[in-house]
Amino acid sequence: WEKRVKESSKIGSGNGNGVCVLVTGAAGFVGTHVSSALKQRGNGVVGLDNFNDYYDPSLKRARQALLARLGVYIVEGDINDEELVRRMFDIVEFSHVMHLAAQAGVRYAMENPSSYVHSNIAGLVSLLEVCKSVNPQPAIVWASSSSVYGLNNKVPFSEKDRTDQPASLYAATKKAGEEIAHTYNHIYGLSLTGLRFFTVYGPWGRPDMAYFFFSKDILKGKSISIFEGPNHGTVARDFTYIDDIVKGCLAALDTAEKSTGSGGKKKGPAQLRVFNLGNTSPVPVSDLVSILERLLKVKAKRKIMKMPRNGDVQFTHANISYAQKELHYKPTTDLQTGLKKFVRWYLSYYRDGKMSDQ
Ligand code: NAD
Repeated sequence: WEKRVKESSKIGSGNGNGVCVLVTGAAGFVGTHVSSALKQRGNGVVGLDNFNDYYDPSLKRARQALLARLGVYIVEGDINDEELVRRMFDIVEFSHVMHLAAQAGVRYAMENPSSYVHSNIAGLVSLLEVCKSVNPQPAIVWASSSSVYGLNNKVPFSEKDRTDQPASLYAATKKAGEEIAHTYNHIYGLSLTGLRFFTVYGPWGRPDMAYFFFSKDILKGKSISIFEGPNHGTVARDFTYIDDIVKGCLAALDTAEKSTGSGGKKKGPAQLRVFNLGNTSPVPVSDLVSILERLLKVKAKRKIMKMPRNGDVQFTHANISYAQKELHYKPTTDLQTGLKKFVRWYLSYYRDGKMSDQ
C-alpha cells in the first residue's frame, strides 16, 4: 500500500500548487466529492477511511472505485490508529489535512453512543496528535456541523451564536470537536478551519438522510413519516447542494495559512476559523417531499407527524456572510435543481438493482 500512497500523493502538472492533501473519510459522501475535485485540479490526494457499516458499505466501495479511476488511493484504516497515520506522514509530506471522517447521524447515537466518542472525539484527538508532531505541520480543515447551534437559537444562525445546547449526542461530539481544535491551535500552533455544513445532499449521498430514504420509499410505494411539527413550515432544513459544499471546502483549504508550530513546538499564533457553509434558503420537509414526487413521478404516501423527534432541531438556516467575505463562498444550486441531479444519479445507480458508478 505504501507504493500506492506515494503514487496517489503525486501533484499534477496543472495548478497543483504544491498542495498535497490527506482526506479522512474519503469513501464517504462529502469525502468522495472533495477528493475528486482536489485530484482533478492537480493536487496530490490520499484518502483514509475505515469503511464502517453505518450504512451500505457497497456504496462506499463504489465511491472508492470511482476515486481509484481518478488516481486517488484510499488507505483502509481508522483515524484512531496513530501508528498508521504516522506512517502515512512518513511516506508523504502532506501540506493539508481535510478531516471529514466522523460518525454522522442523529438517531443512531441513541443505540451506538460509543461510536460517536470513538470517531468524533478520540479519533480527532488522535489525528491532531499526529499533525502536531510532524514537521512541517499540515494546515487542517475539518467538518463541524450546523447541529452545534442546537436548541433555542434564533435564525439565521451566525458563527457568533451560542452553541451550548446540543440536541443530540452527535451535535455534542461535533461541538466538542470545535473545543478540541481550539486547544490544539492554542497550544501547538496548528492552523485549523472548521466548516459547519448544513444538510448536504446530492449524487452519491448518504442513505440514512431523509431525501435519500424518502426517494427509496416513495418509489417502493411505502408510506413515509414526515415530521412536520405543529404547522407546515415549522420543521425546515437549509439543504445545501454538494457542489456548493465542495467549493467551500476548497476555498477553505486555499485560504488556510500555514501552521506556526513544528514537531509539537509552537512558534507563534496560528489561524483558527469556523465558517457556516449553508444555502441560506430553508425548505419545509414536506416541500422537499413534493419536489421528490414531481421528479420521481410517483405520489408519496405521507404520514404527517406533528410531534418533534428526539434529537432533531426544528429549523436550520445559515447566515453565510462570514464565509462569503473570507472564502467568496456563494451557493448557486437551489433545491429543485440539486434534487434533479440526485434523482438522476439515484435512478441510474439503482436501476434494475444493478450498480453504475456514472
Ligand atoms: P459519511 O458517513 O458519508 O462519511 C464519513 C466517512 O468517514 C465514512 O466513509 C466512514 O466510513 C468514515 N469514517 C467514520 N469513522 C471513521 C474512523 N474512525 N476512521 C476512519 N474513517 C472513518 O458522511 P458525510 O455526509 O460525507 O459527512 C462528512 C463529514 O461532514 C462528517 O464529519 C459529518 O459529520 C459532517 N457533516 C455532514 C453533513 C451532511 O449533511 N452530510 C452535515 C453536517 C456535517
